[in-house]
Amino acid sequence: MTSSVAARLRVAPSPTGDPHVGTAYMSLFNKAYAQATGGAFVLRIEDTDRARYVAASEQQIFDTLRWLGLPWDEGPDVGGPYAPYRQSERLDTYRPFVEQLLADGHAYHCWCSTERLAQLRAEQQASKVSVTGYDRLCFGKTREQREALPGFSPTPVVRMLIPDDAPLQFTDVIRGQVSAPRPDDQVIFKADGFPTYHLAVVVDDHLMGITHVVRGEEWISSTPKHILLYQFLGLTPPAFAHMPLLRNTDKSKISKRKNPAARLMWFREQGYLPEALRNFLQLLAYPPVGESEVATFDEFVSSFDWAKVNTVGPIFDLKKLDWLNGEYIRAMNPDELADRIVEHLRFTGEWAQPEPAEVELLRRATPLIQERLGLLSEALGKLVFLFTADADLVIADDARAQLGEDASTVLEGAIDVLEATEPFDTAGIEAGLRAALIDALGLKPRFAFGPVRVAITGARVSPPLFESIELLGRESSVARLRALLASLDQPEGFEPPGGLDGLDQR
Ligand code: GLU
Repeated sequence: MTSSVAARLRVAPSPTGDPHVGTAYMSLFNKAYAQATGGAFVLRIEDTDRARYVAASEQQIFDTLRWLGLPWDEGPDVGGPYAPYRQSERLDTYRPFVEQLLADGHAYHCWCSTERLAQLRAEQQASKVSVTGYDRLCFGKTREQREALPGFSPTPVVRMLIPDDAPLQFTDVIRGQVSAPRPDDQVIFKADGFPTYHLAVVVDDHLMGITHVVRGEEWISSTPKHILLYQFLGLTPPAFAHMPLLRNTDKSKISKRKNPAARLMWFREQGYLPEALRNFLQLLAYPPVGESEVATFDEFVSSFDWAKVNTVGPIFDLKKLDWLNGEYIRAMNPDELADRIVEHLRFTGEWAQPEPAEVELLRRATPLIQERLGLLSEALGKLVFLFTADADLVIADDARAQLGEDASTVLEGAIDVLEATEPFDTAGIEAGLRAALIDALGLKPRFAFGPVRVAITGARVSPPLFESIELLGRESSVARLRALLASLDQPEGFEPPGGLDGLDQR
């Protein structure tokens, strides 16, 4: 199905709240095909539903899609030959189309009040009639004729007139022949002067030269309305492709109400890498590009084919994403990883304005945690001992509890070693500590290094010890060993004088 004609595709989110992960999924596939054919990927903001409009949402859409590495060729913020790309700025564009539909008898004014429509719906539900939807009370009536009847509202809407023989089947690029239910006489222009989605999407896709409308499966039932509008207006419809809905592991539809991962921003907040998320989305309802599931966007594009899309709703399995994230983290250059960690900490506000020395220390420490890091957000927790003042270091209860009888002797020996090690580097520190604690004292490594680790990091588990000591530096390392030693020497209930807060919190 890959064509050599430059295709124009768009993603058309409505700014109604935090962007949904489905917007990223659609963007990915739309952009892939645009790129595969040397065409264009357009971002259009569909903000005609003023009741659901959320002002901050548009910027969040821009930010998250850019963060994901899915920029657009044309859009509200970058412009383009078919600007404006925000529907609320195109209201004058839609009017002539509505006029034409009215003049040609494909649409009619409807003055029914909201109350009347609600009542009609309630009656239809109660009587369980098979034909539901608008009863065409206003069809064929003048304003005066209609005004004489109950349930009149002075500002009319415009409805499209669905003919009896409306085509209910269409050919979908992914699904082949698709049938959809018979539509209602859909409102296409509202009393507030805004078009509805159905009219605006058709007019804009046409005017913007969109060749392929790729969107979620939930829009299949709208497609016959759109195809009819194209017919009414004498326009050629684009190709339609409906991607499967993303599902939770229990097969339910991913919704922002139930699943935090439905919010695109959630992934950034959690500390996922955008390339891992992009790769993850690439594997939803789509086979791996090659042997490995890890693939770049360009690799995905190079063999892109709609025929490979599986229409069964793909399971949104975060375990897979976690795995991919780890793969990307481990493959990354450590300096780049450090930059990403800092960027993440800036984003979350944990490090709004880090000192250059802190950034440098993080850069030097990143290789120590790279292998075991799952999310960017875990980095600071693993390295917190490096960014804590000696006096503020808290010894975790479980770490203190595992200190054996030898702890004092070990700490004293370690202090002597660290005071004398020259140069103060990983190799020298390791050699010195091994000689003093293992060779001379005859301890097993766990008993030799355990207390040192607890003193230096406050924890039982930490990044590699000798490297950590080097990074912390001689002065701090010795001070921490002394502090733990002093706390061990004190009788039960002793409160150390100020400056050693937190050393004994039991
Ligand atoms: N504005 C619609 C949405 O929010 C776009 C649907 C379409 O792509 O046609 O999903």
